[in-house]
Amino acid sequence: MTKVIPISAGIGNCFLVIENTSIFLVDTGSKGFEYKIAKAITSRGYNLSDLKFIFLTHTHYDHAGSAAKIKELTSAPIIVHESEVDYLVAGFHPMPKGTSLFYKIIIALGKFGNKTKNKVDAVTPDITFSDYYDLNKFGFDANIIHTPGHTKGSSCLIINKNALVGDTLFNVFGSNYPPFANDTKLLKYSWEVLLDENDVLFYYPAHGKRIKRDEFKMQGFKKINSLYHHLFPGKLSTNFIFKSGNDSTT
Ligand SMILES: [Zn+2]
Repeated sequence: MTKVIPISAGIGNCFLVIENTSIFLVDTGSKGFEYKIAKAITSRGYNLSDLKFIFLTHTHYDHAGSAAKIKELTSAPIIVHESEVDYLVAGFHPMPKGTSLFYKIIIALGKFGNKTKNKVDAVTPDITFSDYYDLNKFGFDANIIHTPGHTKGSSCLIINKNALVGDTLFNVFGSNYPPFANDTKLLKYSWEVLLDENDVLFYYPAHGKRIKRDEFKMQGFKKINSLYHHLFPGKLSTNFIFKSGNDSTT
């Protein structure tokens, strides 16, 4: 049995995953959320040292912000794609390009590109990988796959019908397409890879609620067949990035 627990940690969610009786963490939110995350662990009857690993989907400030502190508190190893290592060690990862005119302007205005805001505590990861990483060695029937596009090293974790996808998918403004991505062609490829994971029923983005396979399939095929241009989805919603989803069990 797998339980995926979203923890609101800044402008998005990180996730505590309980598989049978073992636990791991996917992303760590922005800086300063280590105690909230620690409480999410201990309030469920676990010791901090029970955390098996911390997987970072990528190293933007809103995903890797509390990674150094969580590692200190739990002694859990950090797993991240090899292309993200330098950013984590430097404690800074610049924001990617906007995928629509609107977000290009936002980046240009520096709203999300602020150097201070983008900083995370520098930390050296313990485990890196290239295309694929099998989590069997930690006792989980799960794996990590490289899904570049949002960033070069963006990756997703697949466990028992669930995919924890970081920023490779969003669920804001009624769109699954990320507002920011360094390489939209690679992103398209990664969406195909995720759609090919036939066992996956639920996708958990860091921003917005979980997405059912059929919803993503509909948007995915449309987007993959289009010219990768992200059309600004007309109507602004107050649902933006801040809502955390419910716990769920598969
Ligand atoms: Zn990101």
